[in-house]
Amino acid sequence: MYIARILYPVRVLGPGNRIGIWFAGCKHRCKGCSNPELWSINEKYFVTIEQVERLIRSVATENEIDGFTITGGDPMEQASEIADLLEKVKDISEDVMLYTGYEIAELTSDMHTKLLDKVAVLIDGRYEEDLNDNSFLRGSSNQTIHILKKQYSDKYHNYINNNQNEIQNFMINNEVVSVGIHKKDFRF
Ligand code: SF4
Repeated sequence: MYIARILYPVRVLGPGNRIGIWFAGCKHRCKGCSNPELWSINEKYFVTIEQVERLIRSVATENEIDGFTITGGDPMEQASEIADLLEKVKDISEDVMLYTGYEIAELTSDMHTKLLDKVAVLIDGRYEEDLNDNSFLRGSSNQTIHILKKQYSDKYHNYINNNQNEIQNFMINNEVVSVGIHKKDFRF
């Protein structure tokens, strides 16, 4: 699988202290995308599922992991592999929030349904720069938050009703990586 970055603790894209995984590869090419460097799949991003599982378990030995936030790029380009990874780490958390540029109605292939089965909350739809109105958790207001697993309904409704967008900065290799839902025209 192709992963550009894994960060912990991500606190601004879903409730609690989460492992955030940014997958490489996206075909949508939305105008104003804040991660265009993740559109292409570059061999330097290749990691095995086992390597990622080991890394997640090493974080989990000393930290509370409240969930996973899966984004990119578009994770649906690697849906089958991500579903396999989530199966391996489901004992750590099944609270999986996933961003995709596809709309849910487009996600009908076997590999897509295999991944959707493991997702608690899906945020779908392409990024529309003109519709960036700082909606909570959504880059643009055309995107929709779908709570797919009933057992997460109260948790996420409470989270959505009581929070607003925040930005979290991580220092990686002397560079700042800014995480969260950015306002229109954000450039670091
Ligand atoms: S779907 Fe997301 S990552 Fe892909 S181009 Fe659109 S905003 Fe960028």
